[in-house]
Parts: sequence; structure tokens; C-alpha cells
Amino acid sequence: MDMLVIGIQHHFGWVLVNDPVKLICEMHSPNRGPRRDGLQPQFIILHYTAMATAEAAIERLCDPSAQVSAHYVICKSGRIIRLVDEELRAWHAGSGEWCGFQDMNSRSIGIELDNDGKGAFTKQLMTSLEKLLSTIMAKWDIPPVNVIGHSDMAPGRKFDPGPFFEWNKLEVKGLAEKKLQQMEISRFSVDAFRELAQICGYTAPASDADLLATVRLRYRQGASGPLNAADFAAISDNKKI
Ligand SMILES: [Zn+2]
Repeated sequence: MDMLVIGIQHHFGWVLVNDPVKLICEMHSPNRGPRRDGLQPQFIILHYTAMATAEAAIERLCDPSAQVSAHYVICKSGRIIRLVDEELRAWHAGSGEWCGFQDMNSRSIGIELDNDGKGAFTKQLMTSLEKLLSTIMAKWDIPPVNVIGHSDMAPGRKFDPGPFFEWNKLEVKGLAEKKLQQMEISRFSVDAFRELAQICGYTAPASDADLLATVRLRYRQGASGPLNAADFAAISDNKKI
């Protein structure tokens, strides 16, 4: 429920965000800039707001002193608020790395999901996310495997969209895809797991524990305990494991 989203005051004035006619409403965050080195979006990074309400999150994402933003916020009701034009660089990713790439803000579009990280995402939110993803992916020619979570690129520092985000709902619609490695696995060691995880995109510096926890958030939600064969199986297309 985001029935409290009636209007939000920021330094450009009041903007109504509960217009029942429009799926996407426009606001403008001042926290933006040009994409560096002529880069264009090739990834989409999903976040949760970790706040009680969408209004609180939007206010923060539009506050110049907060120095953070995202291209979109999707409310629990399914309403989509655009804060930064896709052509511009929003400030949502921070430090981290994915597939050897840094400055992920210049390479991505950031979507904040109205969720506190402690429970399920609403059906309306997921439906709007699916529509938005398919539009953005078509526009920028972004493959499903390049739709990632914030945690994926910042292990140990970020945990969103978290253990309650249902990646499989996106996967069955071709809006996300696990990147499975194809190497022979000869041993189930920590070093071997890191090597395989790096092939899947997990190149950011991380402790062994943070790397395992991060990979599980995306590939084995709910798993716990020490590294085991199931973790290798989750990131491999080798059916013999
Ligand atoms: Zn985030």
C-alpha cells in the first residue's frame, strides 16, 4: 500500500505522484550527471529502498545533501516514478565491480523497489517492474543476464534486493538470467568457488564469507552453512555435480 503517496514536496515544488492515469510519473532528482566516457546503459541494477515508505525514499533520493538517486522508484502500488532520465548517470551503485567493470553508475540504469528488505515484494510492484524492465531492455539492447542485484556488485557492503526478491519470476519471463559457468569442476575448495564465481561476474573484492553469502542471495536463496557441493551446482551448468 502506498496510499500515502499523494504528493511530494521537493525543491522544485510539489509533484503529484498518485495520478491514476499514468503508470510512470516524473520527478527530477538533482543528484545526477552525464555518463562518463560516453558510456551507455548495459546493465540494470535492482535495489530495495530499505525504508518504510516510498515517499521517504523519494525524498531522500531527491535531497541534494544525500548525494544519492536512482532512475526509477517503483511503489508498492505499482506506480513508477522516474527521477533521472535514462540518458543520464544516476547515483545508485556506489563502489563495487561486476564482470571486471567499475563505475557501474555510468554503465547502468538503477531501479529502487519499495521494500524494507524484511518481507515479500507486492504483486503490483513486480508487475510494474516486469513492464519497465522489458521496455528498458528493448530500448538499450540489454540482455537478461545483465540484470543484476546491487549486492552482486558490492558483496558484503550491499544486500539488496535481498532474500525475498523472487528472481525466478523475472527469469521465466526472460527478464533476468543466471550466468552459469561451464568449466569442469575438479575440487570443491574455497579458491575453486571464487574462480567460478568470478566467471559468473563476481569480480569485486570480497572475503570468502561475503562472496558465498552474496552468490547465495542470487543463486541459492535461503541457503546457509559452509560452502558445499550445492553451491558449486548452483552456479554451474555441469549436471554431473
Ligand atoms: Zn541498493
